Amino acid sequence: MSVNENLEKLSNACGVTGRESEVRELMIRLMTPYADEIVVDKLENVIAVKKGKEKSTKIMLAAHMDEVGLMVKTITKDGFLQFTKMGGIDDRVLPAQKVTVFSRKIAFPGVIGSKPPHIQKEEERKKVIASDELFIDVGAESKDDALAMGIAVGDPVGFDIKYTRLGRDVVMGKAFDNRAGCAAMVEALKLMEKTDCTVYAVGTVQEEVGLRGAGTAAFSVDPDVAIALDVTIAGDVPGVKEYDTSVKMAKGPAVTISDAGLITHPKVLRWLLDSAEEEKILYQIETGLMGSTDAARIMLTRQGIPSGNISVPTRYIHSPVAMLSLKDIENSAKLTVAAIKRVSRFF
Ligand SMILES: [Zn+2]
Repeated sequence: MSVNENLEKLSNACGVTGRESEVRELMIRLMTPYADEIVVDKLENVIAVKKGKEKSTKIMLAAHMDEVGLMVKTITKDGFLQFTKMGGIDDRVLPAQKVTVFSRKIAFPGVIGSKPPHIQKEEERKKVIASDELFIDVGAESKDDALAMGIAVGDPVGFDIKYTRLGRDVVMGKAFDNRAGCAAMVEALKLMEKTDCTVYAVGTVQEEVGLRGAGTAAFSVDPDVAIALDVTIAGDVPGVKEYDTSVKMAKGPAVTISDAGLITHPKVLRWLLDSAEEEKILYQIETGLMGSTDAARIMLTRQGIPSGNISVPTRYIHSPVAMLSLKDIENSAKLTVAAIKRVSRFF
């Protein structure tokens, strides 16, 4: 299946952090044709193994399966759902969003409501409405009604956005952070020929709340080197200065030199950049960004694991809807495969 078809399925699936099962099942289906073995570990990371020669170099690829979202925290007596945020979401983008509440049995559509602007005081209208003043309206008449519908405290809530193709390569949808990385990892497995090294393609859990699954997965895989496949901010929109980020959509995947949690090991950086140069794969470099990826946690596992990032430039991440170019996912996969081919020269 094409990158577009895989990303559509991955984007439309629900995987609010801590509730990744739908994405995991999909990743198992998508990776099975290219893997020698697939296991799900105790924290429910999924690990697909492509075996190389015995005692060969072990490479871990990591793409987090979770997405930022919400979780039902309280149900008011009138049947409104108050929520907590799962991962970093800007309160400013929440009001009036269509959402889906995933109860144990069914998914309920709803909308994030707030006090109407007509009855807000002048100073209230100038302020951002904090998420604890917002609520989800699923049309329930009372708390008992909501409970009878099957809604419960702890239910995950995702944004209700359908994947849309805008142009030949540009697409819009939810959860591109990090279904774009998941799609790149599947594509890399597809493009990969027989390898001398052993590749562990890991779909990780709970990245958005502290890179949690990647830490335990890296401990069990115990790789020689690791690459996180993720997204990064595309700064090619009005109001972003070159200094803030020079990374642009459709100009190739970004290789990180440093971010808030990672200074890419010099050997890893050389490995990735030489691989891109030698195979003439379009890429960009980025440095000094806030935020981090699974690579930061993998690097600090066991005695230390040299790690780096290949990221798909994505507009509007951590908001309900994002935009990217499919070409950047394809080039992320190509760069990953080019690096895997050359690993013995570096590690
Ligand atoms: Zn991410």
